[in-house]
Formats: sequence, structure tokens, C-alpha cells
Amino acid sequence: MELYELAIRRAGAPTLAEFQRREGLAPTGRPDGLTWAALLPWLTGYRHYRVVPGDTYARIAARFGTTVRALITANPNQDPLRLYVDQTLTVPLGFAQVPTDVPFTYELLSLCLEGLAARYPFLSVRAIGETRYGRKLWQISVGLGPRKVLYNAAHHANEWITVPVLMKFLEDYARAVSENGRVYGFSAQALYQRTTLHLVPMVNPDGVDLVTGGLRREDPGWAEARALAENYPQIPFPEGWKANLRGVDLNLNYPARWEQARQIKFAQGFDRPGPRDYVGAAPLSEPESEAVAGLTDRTEPGLTVSLHTQGNVIYWKFGSMEPPGARELGERFAAVSGYALEDVPYASGFAGYKDWFILTRDRPGYTVEVGAGENPLPLSQFDDIYARTLGILALGLAEG
Ligand SMILES: [Zn+2]
Repeated sequence: MELYELAIRRAGAPTLAEFQRREGLAPTGRPDGLTWAALLPWLTGYRHYRVVPGDTYARIAARFGTTVRALITANPNQDPLRLYVDQTLTVPLGFAQVPTDVPFTYELLSLCLEGLAARYPFLSVRAIGETRYGRKLWQISVGLGPRKVLYNAAHHANEWITVPVLMKFLEDYARAVSENGRVYGFSAQALYQRTTLHLVPMVNPDGVDLVTGGLRREDPGWAEARALAENYPQIPFPEGWKANLRGVDLNLNYPARWEQARQIKFAQGFDRPGPRDYVGAAPLSEPESEAVAGLTDRTEPGLTVSLHTQGNVIYWKFGSMEPPGARELGERFAAVSGYALEDVPYASGFAGYKDWFILTRDRPGYTVEVGAGENPLPLSQFDDIYARTLGILALGLAEG
């Protein structure tokens, strides 16, 4: 799916040419520069608006299909009762920012984050690093509390459905904070005051783009990945791709008995860069794993949740290590999600992010394997996955 298709669908236009006609542009049916400028608000979900005589928040909200509350939230430094002509306002548009029925690419993620930051200025969005191919590793922080939790998604490329899970949670949570509402029964304001949430919604943007089509054949990295895949002809390309574009499995790249992981995976035949299960040349050899480890070191979260697919299970131990409180919280995660709390199979028990977090901190860290079937999971599973994962993510803010 092309991004412009999402935009024209939101704009209610049946074709790109019809969208162009409505915007007063030449109806070429091709997304040229002027057309992109008109499409962009339908992707970022907001516009800048210049106040004219007679405007009120209610009138502006009605005109753009939004609410007075959304206008107040997006313009925290403006007085709604003292509008003046030519004042510029940020106007959120009247649809949910995060789509849950289209494949997520790095570009879509970046547009969504720009949009959410405009709608909810209390979110902080920054890059904690950059891939070898120049994609930024986005981190979002929300909340004022002394407790800290870190959620991440998509260490593995073909598990990208976890990206919209975290992004929708972010949007639902931010909206609830702004409306003084609830998330999974918890007061969002109470969570916001109690806990600071750090999110890394797409740990592996290079790999995700390979699987979701954000990376085209002619783009840097595609041919290199294709060549690495030749080493493993039995793994479907690109659907079977889990690694980053350098062929390193990022969730086998952390210093938690990494040598043990290397020995196991080499014995299984994963002894060269490829679509999955190659541990890399050294622990934290990759900018993605290094960035997530660095964020963890700077923020020292009390709890981490890493979203993966699939299996409907929650892993919570590293070897025989059971951090204090981890079993109890894990059992509550299992109860709210219906996922099973399990021990990791021995052969997958080393060098993952959760493993490293538990080993170095002895604090609760979980890998949650959402959904069932074969990766990449279809978007038809999204609603069920989100309904089950929401309880975990909310409970983590309340108890982590
Ligand atoms: Zn995974």
C-alpha cells in the first residue's frame, strides 16, 4: 500500500485524480510535489490554521471535524478566549492518527510521530540513534512520574505488527491523559503522574521496511539483503526476514551469555549474516541494539516489555534468574491477556534484550509473544492482539 492511498481514503476521495481535482490541482493521478503538500495533513493528522475575524474554538473545531478539547490540548500556550486575527493554531483533524489496517513502514511511523507530537505536545519525541542506512531510531517519552518503564517493539523485522500495537497504545494513552479519561480502567492522569514511559516503537526500521515494502528493490540495502538471503534459500524472502539489513538478529546481539547464543546458533547452521539467528560479530555490534541498551542505561527502568510475535506466551526469566516480583507481575500479565507465562526454551534463552536486562539489573523484564500463526502475522489479527496486549501495557504503567 502506498502512503497516498491512506491519505486519499482519509480525505474521502475515491482516486488520487479526484483528490487533486477537489484540491484545485491538475488531476494527473500522480503524486507530484504540490499534491504531496495537499496530502500531508491527511497523514500527519493536523493543519496549521490562521485565525480570521469571528473565529472561535467551537467554530474552528466544527469546520475541521475536531473538538474544542483537542484544540486546547494541541495549543497549550494559547488562550481560547483571546484569539486574534492572523494567530496560528495547530488544528488536529478528526480521525485517529495511528492506522491499524495498513502495513507499517518507517516513513509512516515518522509521520505518525510528527502528528502525535502536534496533537499532544506533552509527548517528547527524539532519536536515540540511527541505522546503517540512515533511519532514525525513535524514542518517545510520556509522563512525569519517578517510576520508569521501557516498552519496545519490532526487534524482529517480520514481527512489525507489534509497531502499531505500541503506537495505538501511545495514542490511546495520550488521548486519555488529555481528556482526563481512563486506560484499561486506570486513571490516565494517575498513571501519567506516577510513571514515565519510554517507548521504542520500531527497534529495527531497516528490517521492517524490507518486509513491509518501505524498502524498494532500487533502494540502498535491498540488494545486499537479497544477497545475504541466498545463504539461506530455505527461508522465504523477504517474509522470513527478522534481522537488520546487515543480517544480524538484533535480539541475539545483547551481552547476556552471548557466546553461548553464538555456539548454539552456529551449531544450528546460522554462522553467517542472514535473515535470522545470526548473533553478529560481537555483542552490541549493531547501532540498533546499542541504542536500546544505551537508553536503558540512561533511564534505568524498573520494568521492560519487549513485544514480539508469535505464540501467545510471556517469557520472564533468564536462566534460573527470577527477579523480585517478576513472577507475580507476570501472572497478572497472563491473567489480563490470556497469554501463558512460560520458561524460555533453552536454545533461545541467551543474548536477547530481556535476557540482558534481567542479567544486569535483576528487575522484571518480559518478552511478550503476541498472536498465533506464521510471521508476519496478518493485520486481521490486530484487534485481538491489541485487546490482549492493552492490559499488559496499562498494568505495566500502574505496577512497574
Ligand atoms: Zn521476535
